Amino acid sequence: MKPPRVSIAVAALLCAACAHRAAPIPSTFALHEMDMHLHCGLERPIALDKWIDIAARDGRKVIVMLDHLELYRKTPAEYYAWLAEKKFPRWYPVGAEGHRAFMNDLNTVIAARPDLHLFRGWEIYEGELDTGIEEAPMRMADVIGWHISPNNGREAPNGQTLIKRAKQVRELQKEFPIPMILFHPFTMRIENLQKTAKANGRDISAITVDEYRFFQPGEQEELARILKGLPIYIEIGKTTGTMWLDPVVRESFIKDIKPLADMGVQFTVSTDNHYMIHTQQKFQPDVYCSELGITTANTNTIVHELIAQRRNSAKQ
Ligand SMILES: [Zn+2]
Ligand SMILES: [Zn+2]
Repeated sequence: MKPPRVSIAVAALLCAACAHRAAPIPSTFALHEMDMHLHCGLERPIALDKWIDIAARDGRKVIVMLDHLELYRKTPAEYYAWLAEKKFPRWYPVGAEGHRAFMNDLNTVIAARPDLHLFRGWEIYEGELDTGIEEAPMRMADVIGWHISPNNGREAPNGQTLIKRAKQVRELQKEFPIPMILFHPFTMRIENLQKTAKANGRDISAITVDEYRFFQPGEQEELARILKGLPIYIEIGKTTGTMWLDPVVRESFIKDIKPLADMGVQFTVSTDNHYMIHTQQKFQPDVYCSELGITTANTNTIVHELIAQRRNSAKQ
């Protein structure tokens, strides 16, 4: 005899122990309902449940909760100096014990908030794709984001950087079959160029669209070919909206990003919030995403993948 079929949404609604109403699974989330990069670990200003509550009250329904993996490698002395400088409370120890404590807190909030789709992640410095990865904590995550660095004082990230990283992530996914995101490549290039201009006493408004441009001819097509059909995403963070106010930067963003979206490259939207002050600005990704050709359908791909992954791991 066949067992009775209960849909996931109905099963979730039947969870009587939960204080919050369980989330049905809609086919698509609006852009502002997703935050695929929220700092929830050592760089977190308040208790995790309250921090998630603030995001939910601003409309978030899907959140990737993450922390910088490198922070857990500090020596005790470095860690105390860092805490004093950054003014964050001491939430977790460093090392493997810290990884587990952080992930335990994420599991607690996941269980407490069935009305939200919450996922566990790490943000990892892109250089580890060259020097070697730390496997144990990575196995605890649902998703990994690679921090593309502004590389300040040196060459700004560009098309070749992203092509190289995309190829490395494609290889790594053979061992780690989870979604991965290339974090904030475009805004990091702008940051580098503007800092360099300032350091050289050059007026930022003299920087041209061509200088800002991330890609050389042919690179967008090459990147789209590499990423085709893979669970590798490119982040469009909230800082895009701030930089967008400069019409020259905006033009370069549209020229760099829209053709990728048109060729089927998959994107994520996020806040990258760390501090309380970051939460005071409303998250409005629609403002820049529409002109970049980044749709809700495109940005929901990773969400559907993460929900399916969670469902499959629950079955095992
Ligand atoms: Zn980052
Ligand atoms: Zn970040």
